[in-house]
Parts: sequence; structure tokens; C-alpha cells
Amino acid sequence: MHEVVVLSGKGGTGKTSLTAAFAHLAQNKVICDLDVDAPDLHLIAAPSHVRSERFLSGHLAEIDPRVCTRCGVCEEVCAFGAIDRADGTFTVDPGHCEGCKACVVLCPAQAIRFPERDCGVWHQSESRFGPMVHAQLDPGQENSGKLVTLLKAEARREASRRGLDLILSDGAPGVGCPVISSLSQATLAVLVTEPTPSGRHDLERVAELCRHFRIPAAVVLNKADLDEGQATAIETLCRTMDMPLLGRLPHDPEVVWAMVKGQAITENPDSAFGSEVRRIWSWITDLLFNLPARTS
Ligand code: SF4
Ligand code: SF4
Repeated sequence: MHEVVVLSGKGGTGKTSLTAAFAHLAQNKVICDLDVDAPDLHLIAAPSHVRSERFLSGHLAEIDPRVCTRCGVCEEVCAFGAIDRADGTFTVDPGHCEGCKACVVLCPAQAIRFPERDCGVWHQSESRFGPMVHAQLDPGQENSGKLVTLLKAEARREASRRGLDLILSDGAPGVGCPVISSLSQATLAVLVTEPTPSGRHDLERVAELCRHFRIPAAVVLNKADLDEGQATAIETLCRTMDMPLLGRLPHDPEVVWAMVKGQAITENPDSAFGSEVRRIWSWITDLLFNLPARTS
């Protein structure tokens, strides 16, 4: 089984539009949206949920007002300022509680419960492009790396169950924890960038990350015609870092229109942009043919 993860050093490079086009073109795959903080692949893939489960991670202190004696010990021991006192009543601010358990252990009245924290929801779905695994982390919740790991495991399980040989993932932007989790066991990272100084800088950072984890990487330069000088600089970076440049895609308003219509750009048979994406996907499948599968 192969895993292809589409990444970009930052948002707004066209990563999800490209992933959706690949999802339209790829055969025998599970698609996976690993951008759990701000997922949007579902806008094009139109999934119907088959199974939905809450994502529980870490713990949260909860004071039982019927047992609390209002001694104030929890307020003293909480290093995160998470205990609120209003009118003599003690409560926990979920936005500040780090789940360290100090108050639970030290509360003389044993008035503090410590349930698992409900951080979001994940779904196993059927989409226009086949089976899909995706999630939504609740606002302000952390642990996105752990949720990404869960989604990847579910995608592998689903692919194995159906005898599918590819997992195609839309990764999170940036180079943080969810991106590192996205790269785990990936066969190939496709890095989408644009010809700006920040695009080049972010490409370099995510490429370094791939190199660190020994994940082969290839690059797609989107909106390549916006700045020829920066486009050339990115080509030079690709050569320096020994990454194939799979294609230079032009800035094309049609891509945005396809997104507005909830379509992948490759669903329009007359689109020149879509034809170039087809050629890029064909190159990716050639690369996969020569790369060792990472999972079974
Ligand atoms: S330590 Fe326990 S009993 Fe004391 S104020 Fe906090 S919750 Fe109430
Ligand atoms: S679990 Fe830790 S962070 Fe949360 S309220 Fe208790 S002491 Fe504060």
C-alpha cells in the first residue's frame, strides 16, 4: 500500500484543489483529510457519513458544586489560572485547564472529576471519489497530531479491508505537529507552493522536514506565472534539494470557479489546467511504481 500526502508550507497555495483533482483521478484509494483544524476537502468530495465518533483526548477537571467545600486549594495549586471563583463558587475554565490533575489529587473534598476531554468528531464516509476518512477538531482544541494519527490508522484499516492500495491525504498547512503526523509512513509527499518569497521559504521548511523523516518529496509550483523570478528561484531550490518539479501550473480563475461549484478541476474535460494536473498525476503514479510501499 502507498500513502501520498499533499502538503504546503502555508495555506492558500491550492493544496486542497490539487488534492481533490488527484482524488478524482486516482483509482483504488481511500481519501483522507488530515487538515483537522480547517478541513475543506469535503466541499468537493461531498461525503456521506457512514460512521461518526467523538474524538476524546486528554482530560479536563470538573468541579462538583454539591461536594465542593469552597476551601480554595484548587485555585492555589492550579499553575494555569484555570480555576474561576465567582460569588464564592469554584469552576474550571476549560479553555485554560491543561489537564495536569494537580487539583484533582489535592482537593481535600475529592470534589473534582477528571473525565476525558471531548475535542471533536471524526467520520468514516462514502464520497464522490470513494471511501473517505475526515474529522473536525473543535475550536481551540489541541492534540491535532493525535487526531491525524487516528485518521491515518482508520484510513489504513479501511484500505486493507477493501483491498485498496493507495491512501491519498490532504495534509495540514505549515510544519507543525499535524504535518509531522501526516508524514508518518508516507510513501511520497507532494509539496504545493507558489512563486513568492514566503512560498519559497515555506517550501524549504517543509522539504527539510521530509528530508529529516526520509520521506521522498516532489513539488508542484502553482500560480507559476505570477512571478517569473520567484518561479525560477523555486526551480533552483528543487534542483538543490534534489526534488522533482512535477509541474508549473498557471494562475487560473477557473480553479476557483470549480471549487465554488464543488467540483475538482479535472472534472472539466476541456480545462487546460486540468490536463496539466492529469499529466502531474501520471508522473506521481510513475514515481510510486518505483518507491517501496510503506504499509501493508
Ligand atoms: S479544592 Fe476542592 S473543595 Fe476546595 S474549592 Fe477546590 S473543588 Fe472545592
Ligand atoms: S487539572 Fe491542572 S490545569 Fe486543570 S484545573 Fe486542575 S490544576 Fe488547573
